[in-house]
Amino acid sequence: MFVDIHTHIDNQSVIKIVDENGVRIFETVGIHPWELDRHFDWSEAEWRNPFFEKAFGNGGFLDKLEMTAAIGEVGLDKAHKETFEKQIEVFEEMIRLSESYRKPMIVHCVRAYSEIIAIRKQTKATMPWVIHGFNSSVETMRQLLKYDMYISLGEVLYRNENQAVEILKNVPLDRLFLETDVSGRDIREVYDKAAKLMNFEVELLCKQIFENYGRLETAH
Ligand SMILES: [Zn+2]
Repeated sequence: MFVDIHTHIDNQSVIKIVDENGVRIFETVGIHPWELDRHFDWSEAEWRNPFFEKAFGNGGFLDKLEMTAAIGEVGLDKAHKETFEKQIEVFEEMIRLSESYRKPMIVHCVRAYSEIIAIRKQTKATMPWVIHGFNSSVETMRQLLKYDMYISLGEVLYRNENQAVEILKNVPLDRLFLETDVSGRDIREVYDKAAKLMNFEVELLCKQIFENYGRLETAH
């Protein structure tokens, strides 16, 4: 049983579970920080409702939210500096939805870890957040863990092995996820890679991460 906590099928962000019976797909919904410009006319004063309606079409954002496995991917990205303030507003809106619908969140974070931590503190959010594509320091990871977040690793396992080994050495196993995101890799290969770097049995890693996933899903 391989849980891929964050990947994309067409333009949809999903959670994918692969096992001997095949593949199960769970949709997530949310507004990605790169999508703000595409969906939103910043000149509108009352932006929230029109924004959601536009972004999620006829069925409406809220209908879809009832059935979704998680809110994602959402978050903050300092590589898109010009929209950063709006990103924070939208992210806080996503947190409100996550808390009121009792849905975990899959969080995209680029150079904004301290803001993510500050917002989690300040909103007193209690739903689990998975920081996907984590590739920062062990110290940053400790901060995220302290505020009950999970981390998910993908490309860092290939692009920066030394850092990945450091992270894997220090992450509590009950806070770890793995992902393929947009890499096009097979999730089973990602588990093999992580297990090798950890000197760990891949079967045990599968079991542990599936348990972690169970915890996310029962947090509702
Ligand atoms: Zn992604």
